[in-house]
Amino acid sequence: MLKNNCCKFYYKKTDLEQKKRKVCSVCGFIDYKNPKIVAGSLIVKNNKFLLCKRAINPGYGKWTFPSGYLDQGETPQEGAIREAKEEVNIKIKLQDLFIVFTVRKKNLIQFVFLAEQLNKTFKPGIETLEAKYFDYKDIPWKFLAFRSVGYTLKKYAKKSSKFPIFHKYNED
Ligand SMILES: [Zn+2]
Repeated sequence: MLKNNCCKFYYKKTDLEQKKRKVCSVCGFIDYKNPKIVAGSLIVKNNKFLLCKRAINPGYGKWTFPSGYLDQGETPQEGAIREAKEEVNIKIKLQDLFIVFTVRKKNLIQFVFLAEQLNKTFKPGIETLEAKYFDYKDIPWKFLAFRSVGYTLKKYAKKSSKFPIFHKYNED
């Protein structure tokens, strides 16, 4: 949320749709609760999937593919590439946009791209305890950080041919 130092919020109906929003009584700033955008990548090599064990919450100690919030002005593609670099120190080449998740309760939209690794090595960044490629049969299903991770892996395994898939979570 962008907010000025002065801000003292109250709820007020604003704009044409007449929705109640948080408005500052001093400067008039309106705190629109627009969804946050997250971008990540399912990196596939020899039919194995690169997963990272998270060193931060939420999901500390659990596995996910590289993913994170976009920075100001970033495209989803740039964000996915940057996150892979930050989390596992790899360069990736993006392929298809694979899934677009809407997570209503967290008010976020996540883009998941398919990607391939360009450089030979990788190593965990500071937000990652460990990173490795998993065969599908060895995926630690019970220790995935987010439901979207398991959903993505299963959809990939089914070789759905129509991309992107749009999927929403209404709860959690
Ligand atoms: Zn203000």
